[in-house]
Amino acid sequence: MEKRLISVDRWSDGSQAYFLTHLHADHIQGLSSAWSRGPLFCSRQTAKLLPFKFPNFNISLIRILEVDAWHSLFLTSPSSGTKTAVQVMPIDAHHCPGSVMFLFRGDFGSLLYTGDFRWEAMSEKANKSRIILKSAINGSKLDILYLDNTYCHPSYAFPSRLCAAQQVVNIIVSHPEHDIIIAIDNLGKEELLVHISQTLDIKIWVWPERLQTLHLLGYNDRFTTNTSLTRVRAVPRYSFTVDTLEGLNKLKPTIGIMPSGQTGVLRPNGKNGNMHTSVAAARGNGFESSAVPTITYNRWKWNIRSVERLHQYIYSVPYSDHASHEELQDFLELVQPIKMRGIVSSSSCYIDPLYYFGHIQGVNGSSKMMSQKHEEVENASTFQPESLRHSSYSQRKRLRSPRIRILGSRRSRVNALRRARSGAKIVKDDRLD
Ligand SMILES: [Zn+2]
Repeated sequence: MEKRLISVDRWSDGSQAYFLTHLHADHIQGLSSAWSRGPLFCSRQTAKLLPFKFPNFNISLIRILEVDAWHSLFLTSPSSGTKTAVQVMPIDAHHCPGSVMFLFRGDFGSLLYTGDFRWEAMSEKANKSRIILKSAINGSKLDILYLDNTYCHPSYAFPSRLCAAQQVVNIIVSHPEHDIIIAIDNLGKEELLVHISQTLDIKIWVWPERLQTLHLLGYNDRFTTNTSLTRVRAVPRYSFTVDTLEGLNKLKPTIGIMPSGQTGVLRPNGKNGNMHTSVAAARGNGFESSAVPTITYNRWKWNIRSVERLHQYIYSVPYSDHASHEELQDFLELVQPIKMRGIVSSSSCYIDPLYYFGHIQGVNGSSKMMSQKHEEVENASTFQPESLRHSSYSQRKRLRSPRIRILGSRRSRVNALRRARSGAKIVKDDRLD
């Protein structure tokens, strides 16, 4: 695909059409209320939330794309000046409200940008998306896949969200005298909260802005901002700290629940014990220090994760809105990309999904792929939509070693590989969702 045609989750100047997969913070860096660079294409739910996220957003620039249908765009080739047609199909990403992946096709071939996604095997909704995607690809292979590689390491095995939601309920039920706080983001985990509310027939407290978002999404009856009506409160992740829990326990017995695919790897960070900005080793019931705070060392948890008690007052539950390793494998066997690139990296680390999935038939699995990596990286840096979200062009130029690339570090590739094999984890923009 030529440069200066389209951008996905990338908001710098120079494209003719901009696509937004979902409204999590790491996908909207550069987007603001003053947006005027061009039409913004997104799902209907995202379009509904966008003006709430960005007051005074020029809504005449919003283009709603219905999911599971092809849409045609006619853009101008920057090189030839001629009209070129691009077709796009949004497909539900099952990540958070409004989240979609975008499948593009045109003169350039076919390209799928997953954004963040979950791909549960037993989910009816995911099965529907599986059928839609298979039909849309129509037996041919994808030319380029940009993949949510958050949990591509094989140690990331977690249960379905429904199962994890029941684990949360079980924790709440087993603490009948406690107040409960659950860490959530500004968007996402709605179905978890609804499951708790329905199963226990209680309301859930949320902060006022979150209540507005929930109302926009159509959740009207199960949430309240009145603390006297419930003992279960969903709180912003940034406020979920050890200090907060210890302070609350001076007033009333309280436990905290952290739902995340990175369970077992959270530890408090900094003076206030903030848990959302740091991941490191945490085993047993206590916190262990880590020499490299942005890389996680999971000591071989190859089985499906379960609830862990991270601290006297804190449980982590493996409720993930990102695909597990097994789900990613299932996804790749379906779409069989000719080229593949992970979309998630941080200032410190990037793990190439090919390292774990290159063996899948059709997924560039041969050793030849090793030598193609340089070419692939170069190509990736020339496309607008495929740009890595969290690294600058200069950083991408440094992503040279064939499989694992550690940025901003003098670690050898051997050490990097060793870390990957022992659970080196990419940290997505130093936050979790
Ligand atoms: Zn997200």
